[in-house]
Amino acid sequence: MWESLKAQLLEVGTVQLTGADACEYESKSTAGPGAGGRGSVFFSYEGHRVRLSVADESPITIRHIGGGTVMLTYGCIEVLGKLEKPGSHCPDQAYITISGSCVFHCKYCPVPANAAPTKSVDEIVSLVRDAGDIHAISLTSGVSGSIEEEEARTLAVVKALREFDLPIGVSIYPARGTARRLREAGAAEIKFNLETATPELFAEMCPGMYRDVVNTELDEAVKLFGKNHVFTNLIFGLGETDEEMKAAVDELCARGIIPTLRPFSPGGDLKDLPRPGFKRFMNLYKHHRSALAANGLDTRKAETMCIACTGCDMVPGRD
Ligand code: SF4
Repeated sequence: MWESLKAQLLEVGTVQLTGADACEYESKSTAGPGAGGRGSVFFSYEGHRVRLSVADESPITIRHIGGGTVMLTYGCIEVLGKLEKPGSHCPDQAYITISGSCVFHCKYCPVPANAAPTKSVDEIVSLVRDAGDIHAISLTSGVSGSIEEEEARTLAVVKALREFDLPIGVSIYPARGTARRLREAGAAEIKFNLETATPELFAEMCPGMYRDVVNTELDEAVKLFGKNHVFTNLIFGLGETDEEMKAAVDELCARGIIPTLRPFSPGGDLKDLPRPGFKRFMNLYKHHRSALAANGLDTRKAETMCIACTGCDMVPGRD
């Protein structure tokens, strides 16, 4: 029941909040879908989670009854659940964006239009210290200045965060050798994003970026961090076919990399492209589940970042 409900909710992606004040449950993001938007909430039901962007109007409503207890209504669906407190970006983790600006301009990405400052190491350490009861630290970043400068900043942050003795996941745009340097600095998990199902779509969507370097570093990361600890985002809904997406998923799983299948969220230069529909969510989800199983990959072993969070995506093994 949850898988189908989550796919229906993610197809819409937004929610209207009613009832008692729910400010303490709303999260503002500079990363992930909805970056720079009005905010979002994490609805949870029987240990599962979905993140929805807060909107003035949506066919989905969440009525806050009090103390985080809510009634979610969508058409004839009514589900009693909870809102989770977001912590630092997402529940259970301090998920921090180091640089909120980027020298690249991926067509789907809201970051260039909502550029935010770069955080210092001290600021990040304070954010983690104030994050409350967390089980992991995750770091992401735009590319401010140059790829090399961004990596140097990230390495300094990872080293400073080792004092918390928590698993640290890192998602940045890599240069050659980044996986090894992050491992030596103390990172526990890696997410280098391939973003699109095909190289052709990558060239169109992410001008100036090098897919072969991302691929090389992903393979290197599997050797260094091990199976179940290396991830890559693949956005679906950018114009690829189901067959292309399934082939990309198969290839990545065979290499020991867990793909996150992220639904396209209208933004950046692609505000008018629709979100993927329910049937596509379920079709790709079933294929994703089979491909992970066929290659002995287990999302429940992931400790950080989006596979551990599950808010924005359907995650086989956790949903
Ligand atoms: S799935 Fe990833 S981007 Fe989405 S809320 Fe969780 S950590 Fe953030």
